Amino acid sequence: MNKITCLLLALVLFFSNNTFAQNASNKKIIVITTDGFRWQEVFKGLDKDILKFKPYQNGDSAKTAENFGGTTIEESRKKLLPFIWTTIAEKGQIHGNRNSGSLVDNANPYWFSYPGYSEILTGQVDTAVNSNEYAPNPNTNFFEYLNTLPFYKGKVIAFGAWDAFKRILNEKRAGFPVINGTHVDEFLLKDPQFKMVANLMKDTYQPFGEEASDGFTNSLALMYLKSYKPNAMYISYGDTDELSHAGNYPEYLKAANRFDNYIKAIYDFVNTDPSYKNNTIILITTDHGRGDIVKTQWTSHGQKIKDAHEIWYAMIGAGVKPLGEVKANEQVYQKELIHKVAEIANLNFKSTKD
Ligand SMILES: [Zn+2]
Repeated sequence: MNKITCLLLALVLFFSNNTFAQNASNKKIIVITTDGFRWQEVFKGLDKDILKFKPYQNGDSAKTAENFGGTTIEESRKKLLPFIWTTIAEKGQIHGNRNSGSLVDNANPYWFSYPGYSEILTGQVDTAVNSNEYAPNPNTNFFEYLNTLPFYKGKVIAFGAWDAFKRILNEKRAGFPVINGTHVDEFLLKDPQFKMVANLMKDTYQPFGEEASDGFTNSLALMYLKSYKPNAMYISYGDTDELSHAGNYPEYLKAANRFDNYIKAIYDFVNTDPSYKNNTIILITTDHGRGDIVKTQWTSHGQKIKDAHEIWYAMIGAGVKPLGEVKANEQVYQKELIHKVAEIANLNFKSTKD
């Protein structure tokens, strides 16, 4: 090859690569979290050391053991999280089993909700974000970035059970709707199916105050997914955190089991709808871990709770390698997760702080 041919070839490769990079950002993206759900239950199922304590039994330890226990941890975790331990274990990947060397952790030093969600959604740690009452997030989040790209613009939405998500995602600046807590925004109420769920939610006892029970958040999110077909969506559930703070182990497990069923319903829809099938990346994770039974701290989290930075994540969908349960040594931080999604989607999302 002479020099000119070589140069021409290089130019052709350069431009075709660039065109590829610009056209490839058409993957649909769904991020799902469940608040403060421990890696211990994800990988080991029901924790007998917790269930044996009467104050945590909520009066039904036998029934709980029957529903979610097992003679092996594999049996127990599959009963608790059947979708994760069948479909995701087979077609996706699950990280965070510390007993197998897979370490996933908060990089933020706080180990509670707002800093955790901020770390997931902005892909970085901002140590100034240090309270659940923190003002609207100063940092750009991944969905806000997506909403600036032609494929995603106006096709981005978030549903959060917790009423802090309008601040965490800085709805005003970010420019996409964030439906959070027990409040359903006006534009959705024009649709009778949303109006019905909103009315039902209003007429129902809400055990967590302004935070919606997950069933409501899930109904709204799933209806929206099916009817309006967003190109990027965030859904955040909260029952797992509320029920563990309450020290109610049976209900905490039931909430985790329902969560597994929510993600199954989302995946089943994605897998049957032609616009999502083979074109959607799903990331599933949690904002922080919790303590262990030692000193009875499994109910809590935050800096004072040993090991509450220990988390997990799972991925499934287009371009996600089917690694199953990762048993190799690795160290992954929460702030990396959204960048992994961006990389698979061939998107150039940059966090500003690190
Ligand atoms: Zn939390």
